[in-house]
Amino acid sequence: MEILRTVAELRQWSREERNDGGNTIGLVPTMGALHAGHASLIRASHESCGFTAVSIFVNPTQFGPSEDFARYPRTFDADCALARAEGADVIFAPSVEELYPASASTFASTFVDVEGLSNRLDGQSRPGHFRGVATVVTKLLIAAEPDRAFFGQKDAAQVAVIRRMTTDLRLATEIVVCPIIREPDGLAMSSRNVYLSPIERVQALTLIRAIRAVEALAASGERRSSALIAAAQGIFAAEPAVRVDYITLVDWATLEPVEIAIPGSLFAVAAYVGTTRLIDNAILA
Ligand code: AMP
Repeated sequence: MEILRTVAELRQWSREERNDGGNTIGLVPTMGALHAGHASLIRASHESCGFTAVSIFVNPTQFGPSEDFARYPRTFDADCALARAEGADVIFAPSVEELYPASASTFASTFVDVEGLSNRLDGQSRPGHFRGVATVVTKLLIAAEPDRAFFGQKDAAQVAVIRRMTTDLRLATEIVVCPIIREPDGLAMSSRNVYLSPIERVQALTLIRAIRAVEALAASGERRSSALIAAAQGIFAAEPAVRVDYITLVDWATLEPVEIAIPGSLFAVAAYVGTTRLIDNAILA
């Protein structure tokens, strides 16, 4: 498994592998601190593409000024071992200056902004977040020219932004979405779970409890968004240590609220457990 540091190297690798017998290229964008959720994406790419690149880049432009960019977990050696074990052929780990050559102080002067969608869900609570995501994913797609790029349903609003972006920009890459991988007790795997104290780790289960309650209620025939959201609010109310950021039921493509849940509607929650912001969701049946 090779470790590449520059866009030119990644592009050359991708073009050589594709021309060598018409192979397909898969890209798995990550911020590192890899866990079983990332592993499932790498495996999916390895199973459906001839060659797989995993990018590891903690992207400064998607963090707000008071967020955790500086202390975000960085575990590069373990990440490389996990990626290799899942079948990655290349790790792309550029410096900030390599992906943002404009200026070290402002990071960038050119951005990709998916208007509308970028202000909903996490974009409402984290202004600028999806602009940073769309910008870095565009850079990665232009650099790697992958046939497929793999993303987790865990970041469901991000998926909506990236799908819209690739459609609007007529990018050639197919976006593949993989299911949420959970701990045995239901907590969605996240690189940020390491921030949780033992007590917070228990409190964090409120998110999946709320999601499961809403799924059960919807399956029993309650399709009104107001009733489904109220049920989730009731579960959060029983755990006052967890502060809700949003509880919402939306159309997955537009991220606009819906009044009646239909199959495919996105039920999504975000909440602070201590200072750690967690997100989780379910696509309703
Ligand atoms: P991140 O490193 O947090 O930027 O995540 C990189 C990719 O892994 C994103 O597409 C995430 O949606 C995906 N991912 C993160 N956690 C999970 C999970 N628990 N299950 C599936 N995919 C995940």
